[in-house]
Amino acid sequence: MLKSEGFTTRPGKGSHEMFACPSGAHKVSVPTGHKTISPAVHAMVVKAIAVCDCGKD
Ligand SMILES: [Zn+2]
Repeated sequence: MLKSEGFTTRPGKGSHEMFACPSGAHKVSVPTGHKTISPAVHAMVVKAIAVCDCGKD
């Protein structure tokens, strides 16, 4: 989902993974170790994608 939007992943602190858009202006921290993304995290991800217009012409 995030990667298809041009977001890249990088190791975060502890059990979190950091997703950042191409410019790095928009980031979202996602907990790892879960098989599924919780609704709250999913909402954060969707919001990050929605506000990010980097890389879109
Ligand atoms: Zn962005």
